[in-house]
Amino acid sequence: MPDRTSDIGNFDAIIVGAGVGGLYAIYRLRKLGLNVRVFEAGDGVGGTWYWNRYPGCRCDVESLEYSYSFSDDLQQEWHWPERYGTQPEILRYINHVADRFDLRRDIEFNTRVKEAVFDSKANLWTLKTDRGHVATARYCIMATGNLSTPRKPSIAGLENFEGKWYHTGLWPHEGVDFAGLRVGVIGTGSSGVQSIPIIARQAKHLYVFQRTANFSLPARNGPMPPDKERAHKAEYSARRRAAYDTPFGIAGHPPPVKSALQATEAERQRAYEAKWAEGGSISFLYSYTDLLVNRESNDTASEFVRQKIRATVKDPKTAELLCPNDHPIGTKRLILDTDYYETYNRGNVTLVDIRSKPIQEITPTGLRTADADYALDAIVFATGFDAMTGAMKEIDIHTDDGLSIREKWEGGPRTYLGIMMAGFPNLFMITGPQSPGVKSQMILACEQHVNWIAACLQYLRKRGLTRIEAEQDAEDSWIQHNNDVADRTLYPLANSWYVGANIPGKPRVFMPYVGGVTAYKKKCDDVAAKGYEGFRLSDVTEEQLYAAN
Ligand code: NAP
Repeated sequence: MPDRTSDIGNFDAIIVGAGVGGLYAIYRLRKLGLNVRVFEAGDGVGGTWYWNRYPGCRCDVESLEYSYSFSDDLQQEWHWPERYGTQPEILRYINHVADRFDLRRDIEFNTRVKEAVFDSKANLWTLKTDRGHVATARYCIMATGNLSTPRKPSIAGLENFEGKWYHTGLWPHEGVDFAGLRVGVIGTGSSGVQSIPIIARQAKHLYVFQRTANFSLPARNGPMPPDKERAHKAEYSARRRAAYDTPFGIAGHPPPVKSALQATEAERQRAYEAKWAEGGSISFLYSYTDLLVNRESNDTASEFVRQKIRATVKDPKTAELLCPNDHPIGTKRLILDTDYYETYNRGNVTLVDIRSKPIQEITPTGLRTADADYALDAIVFATGFDAMTGAMKEIDIHTDDGLSIREKWEGGPRTYLGIMMAGFPNLFMITGPQSPGVKSQMILACEQHVNWIAACLQYLRKRGLTRIEAEQDAEDSWIQHNNDVADRTLYPLANSWYVGANIPGKPRVFMPYVGGVTAYKKKCDDVAAKGYEGFRLSDVTEEQLYAAN
């Protein structure tokens, strides 16, 4: 355990992060015979599922889909007890995977990478950690996650608060007991909406401080029906393959066949009611072909959900405040909940509108808005993350000729396929910006990237090549394509973390690829089939000769 600078050697590849993507990267790269080392900030595996332990935390993709596909034995033997996995269950699964495939021995836990620098002559990345490690590797793989940099707003007075405060993305491992407490939750995204019903059941009183109302649908979670599990497992491989032929990487939802505007009002109501009863976000957005591209069509779905909110929440003023009216449904991450709107019918829950009466400060005994004081014993920040670029920018990533990620991404992220960047040879990202990761089934997205990277490393090795770098033109056209695709949708209309709107000062750039998993995977496969089109492949000795001349 180094406490001073200590050189821990040279590796074929260093992986940053031991979440879902990093773990699979260890597995795949080891199979190629590569010598790998992983640095992980937490004291355990699991990434997002390690840190987000807030009450009610649960995946919004069904468990049978949200799991690794690389081992049929694994997918056959693992039993998911519920339709949607809880955080403890998913973490248990990821730990099982780490043990079953003996992945831990290459991981350095409790270790945060602070700097990564590329030496162009030696063709090596050198990484330095907060514990003084120095390690070098030919290839560096950033498996740092998209929602891994929790952010709380800077509200004056927090340092003087006499109660306790928490961030959903950094929840204490021992849990928190809110029994008998007056609790304030700030934020009503997925994390807030999942935790609010549970905290409400424990707390003496819960105040929800809402700036923007979000759309949420019932998850309809429940025990896993044994016949469903059996049938799914019987055709697991076919289902996994089929998932790549869908926009969101999730199979089992028949694609819609017509526009919402081609249906009558009565037909639409029947369709939306059926989806509402079924639970799930993909199926709801799959009601019609154009919900994410046509405002008028989207309005029919948005209004359906608003009517449901009005029918559920008894106090009309609270119901109206909970009705989203600033973005089309689905253009922010569509939330799945259990009893969220019902929670506002409890006598011990108060919704506070901080859009019209903003928070002014946190006082020693609570929180002050523009028109009232709220006495609080605990505050929960469910205020989200510096999404998609935060984790990469926290590391000082640069090359010896002075190019840094922080500068390159000053106006927003720039990547080729969300996997590599011009100017940063041999540096890969798993589900980086401008890939569909966050808009798809994340484990599938991680597997697809790791498989692509592993095949690429194999390709290089077979040809005696040691360096790969995205070409500037390829990167520029990929970004242009991303923007063109996004501009044909309604997504850019929302002030979401997809555009960095939740972080003051962050450039407004649409970051995920929304052209769908099918088109994206085809592009990645085509690029590889054409000998890594858009990448410059070379042998370092050639590079050195080139530099010397
Ligand atoms: P989020 O969606 O970014 O929501 C943050 C919330 O905090 C928003 O309501 C936001 O309001 C509010 N907020 C931020 N800064 C504020 C400020 N200064 N004052 C008052 N309110 C403020 O974050 P999240 O809920 O943690 O979710 C992030 C993403 O993680 C999700 O979209 C999802 O992709 C993923 N996630 C998934 C699951 C799941 O699988 N079920 C669960 C949790 C999270 P504004 O909208 O006004 O900015």
